[in-house]
Formats: sequence, C-alpha cells, structure tokens
Amino acid sequence: MPPPEESRMPRPFTTEDYRARLDRAGAAATAAGLAGLVVAPGPDLVHLTGYHPTAVTERLTALVLTAGREPVLIVPTLERPDAERAAGAPAVRLLDWTDGQDPYATAVPLLDPAGRYGVSDNTWAMHLLGLQAALPGTGWTSLTETLPMLRAVKGPDELERLAAAGGAADAAYRGILEVTFAGRRETDVAADLSALLIQYGHSQVDFTVVGSGPNGANPHHEAGDRIIGTGDTVVLDFGGLKDGYGSDTTRTVHVGTDVPDEVRKVHDVVRQAQQTAFEAVRPGVSCQEIDRIARRVITEAGYGEYFIHRTGHGIGITTHEPPYLVEGEEQPLVPGMCFSIEPGVYLPGRFGVRIEDIVTVTEHGGRRFNNTPHELGIVS
Ligand code: ZN
Ligand code: ZN
Ligand code: ZN
Repeated sequence: MPPPEESRMPRPFTTEDYRARLDRAGAAATAAGLAGLVVAPGPDLVHLTGYHPTAVTERLTALVLTAGREPVLIVPTLERPDAERAAGAPAVRLLDWTDGQDPYATAVPLLDPAGRYGVSDNTWAMHLLGLQAALPGTGWTSLTETLPMLRAVKGPDELERLAAAGGAADAAYRGILEVTFAGRRETDVAADLSALLIQYGHSQVDFTVVGSGPNGANPHHEAGDRIIGTGDTVVLDFGGLKDGYGSDTTRTVHVGTDVPDEVRKVHDVVRQAQQTAFEAVRPGVSCQEIDRIARRVITEAGYGEYFIHRTGHGIGITTHEPPYLVEGEEQPLVPGMCFSIEPGVYLPGRFGVRIEDIVTVTEHGGRRFNNTPHELGIVS
C-alpha cells in the first residue's frame, strides 16, 4: 500500500531553488531602494539558503546580500562545516571568523558605508548595534517594514508542502474527535492533539489551544488545568511544522449533543463569516477587504464587538508571517499567497467560537488547505 499523502517526502529544495530566491531577494532590495540585505539565522535565512544553525548563539552569523554581487554568508569558523552542508551553500560564498576576532570587521568590507540595508526582524540587537558601530554611516530598516512580501508568494513546491501540512492537521482533528473530553483537563486534550500532529508527520508542534467554556473566550488562551465538562463549547486551534512548512487550523466543538441555542447561533455566524470571506478571495482583492467582509457578517449579526482580532495571517516556513488580513493592509492578494481565514466571536465569561482554514490564492479564487467539516463538532 502506498504511504498516505501526508507522509510522503517532498522533493528537497535544490541549490538552484535557493539561487533563484537569492536573486529575487536581491532584486526586491534594489527595487525598495536598499543597498542590500543582512539576514541572521531565522526563517529568512532558511528561505534564502536552507541554513538553520542547530543553536543560534551570540556568535555572528549573517548573510550579506547585495544585488549584482555574490551573496556572502558570514559564519563562526566552528560552524562552517554545518553551513557548508546547507542545500543553498553552493549559491553563496562562505566567510568565517574565529573566536577572538571582531566579527563585524568581517562584515565591513561587504557593506556600503553609506548604504541603507534591510535587516531580518529577528537579528539580535547586539549584532545590529555592532554593525552600526562599525559603520556609523549606514541606515537600517526591518525586512517586515520594507519587504513584507519577500516570502509571501509561495512556489509550487512550497504550496505542496503547505497542503500536506494542512492535510496532516486535518487528520489530527479527525483523531481528536474520537478522544474523551469530559472529565479531562484542557492540557490532556492538548497533549493528545500534539501527539496526533506528530503521528501525522509534523516535526514540530507550535501551539495546541484547547479553550473550554469561558477559556474559549480568550483567543490566545493555550491550555490550562480546567477540567472540561459536558455542555462546554471548546475551541481547538493547533498547528506546527511538517517538512519545514506550517499548519494552523481551528475548529470549535461541543461536549455532548445538547447544544444551547446561542452556541448554535454564534457558530453559524462565524461559519458564514469564514465562508463569505473565503469566497471573496481572488487576485487583486486587498488583504483588508477580506477582513472587512468577514467582519461585516459578524457585525450584521450583532456580534461585531466580540470579534477582537484580525481575520488572518500569512503562513509558510513560520506559522505567523505577512501578509496580515487586517484593516489598513492594502496589499492586493497575489496567486501563491497563503494565509489563514479565522474569524471568531468571544463572549467574555461564557464561550468562544473560531473557525480557521489555511487558504491559498489561485488565479480563479481561493483554495483551502484545511478541509474538515466546519460544522460544530460533537465530542463526548
Ligand atoms: Zn494566532
Ligand atoms: Zn490558529
Ligand atoms: Zn492562525
């Protein structure tokens, strides 16, 4: 029997894939008026080189990317062998520095002393301060500020991974419907969710929200000691990374078949908001328009003040990244973008409802990477 879809290994990214990404990033930096980019370990470095140091330490590791020049990856000498093994390593020139040397002196000849650079968001402040002290004439801006869409449009290989991660999260949801909720702690159900995500091929679990009863009214409640009881509405929001790409889905379930009218009503409103926003996805529509559409449905039903967060966030090699589906984000949707659509209603002290799917933009509209039923799940 062939392995199930979600456990098949994707084609590994090649040096050519990384070379293309480096070229694109260099061109985008130039187009944004930057002298180049400086990228420290984190999702941007993974995206551009495939290099992810096992431990991110105080030692400087940085990719210096300047359009028209060979990209340079500065690494501590002791980590050079690791860096050389990265799939993107042949697309960059490795330059190492040894303990006792000034790592910023290694970077200085690579940078324009009067240039303005984009710096990855998660670069340690001490490294940026070190570069600024070495080159006081340089200017710096965060990648999210200047190139927020750098990783937002996914290629076919990335879409395949995101679809597989979504499929694995869906399998975890189907699994959790089978476990007992009543009489167990939220943390017990969260542990089950985590085990299911791993079972279906995730290498990393990022969050397992189990918000039962009043805890469901706090959108970022994780899971606590509360004992789940029959009659509780429970928000389940979980995800992580599978083959390097993220999953993130939310379904709301009810413990027992005796569902109060208001829970049904709120759930229907949220479901309609999610569906209406999904149907509005197509190239050219702005991110904020998707948020407005979801919000309008909830507001017209009288619950607008209880929808207290944005409608969605991008997803890729991290589970939260641009584009953000939020008022003020005028960025138009582009085929290949991937993001969550996750409206919710949170009634303080009572219960919450959220429904979340990862969606990608195609030429013809939205395509979901989560495909479990939106109906209120019934658990025991
Ligand atoms: Zn979140
Ligand atoms: Zn989520
Ligand atoms: Zn989300």
